[in-house]
Amino acid sequence: MSAYANKIGVHGLVWAGGWSEAEARSSIEGAKATGYDLIEILLMDPQKVDAQMTRRLLDEYEMQATASFGLSAQTDVSSEEPGRVRAGERLLHDAYAVARDIGVSYVGGVLYGALGKYSAPVSARGRDNSVAALQRLCDAAAGSDIQIGLELVNRYESNMLNTAAQAVEYIDDVGRDNLVIHLDTYHMNIEESDNYAAVLTAGEHLGYVHVGESHRGYLGTGNVDFGSLFRGLAAIGYTGPITFESFSSRIIMPELSYTLAIWRDLWDDNVDLAEHARGFIDAQLRSAVRRRAL
Ligand code: MN
Repeated sequence: MSAYANKIGVHGLVWAGGWSEAEARSSIEGAKATGYDLIEILLMDPQKVDAQMTRRLLDEYEMQATASFGLSAQTDVSSEEPGRVRAGERLLHDAYAVARDIGVSYVGGVLYGALGKYSAPVSARGRDNSVAALQRLCDAAAGSDIQIGLELVNRYESNMLNTAAQAVEYIDDVGRDNLVIHLDTYHMNIEESDNYAAVLTAGEHLGYVHVGESHRGYLGTGNVDFGSLFRGLAAIGYTGPITFESFSSRIIMPELSYTLAIWRDLWDDNVDLAEHARGFIDAQLRSAVRRRAL
């Protein structure tokens, strides 16, 4: 029996840059073979993802899925321009519909604004537009088992939600209980003072976790303080998904990889990378459980 309840996931871009049937099959097969419970599917362009095909393959391999994406400047719901806000809301609902048809448990990402570097802070009106859009998305998901997540990203990828404290305030403003916080160690390493404290700040709102290294490569080979993160997760009794996220210039989805500035070749053997990460996460979770028993 496992020492912990968390489902362990792996990000789709560890496996393939797209989601054709062949890519979906090799991705799901790779995730299964390297010991993961779920795969995170990219919905940057939801029309490129065939929900029925994906669901069939997930069933075939007895795998679960989550989904993620980010908005662009043209679909920025935190904009003051009504056309962009409308386009963003349309994309949120279109992507949600695909995720629901796949049968995911979670849809998250930078859903509250554009994923990318801004040249000015968010305005009060833009933030209100974002909160209203998230209220309507959460209302669409109400009554389903699907949680909607706000992935907190660093200052070069959002001008609004960079820290757990900001996310708690935003969630209070949205006021919907199916909206959760999604922490990512790569971003926390830039924005938070202390991973343990950030997890405690997110507290009961925490619904999804990305573990990624400071350079996005092999876990444990960069600057991220994983011990502090996992101690925090144990302290709040977090039982939600923990998903390994890593990027290399070897596997590219242009509409995401270039926005995230994935220029370097951090790995070439994704099977070795994924196996290593699965073992790393397992060891961290087991250590955190044992430490609390001392
Ligand atoms: Mn992430």
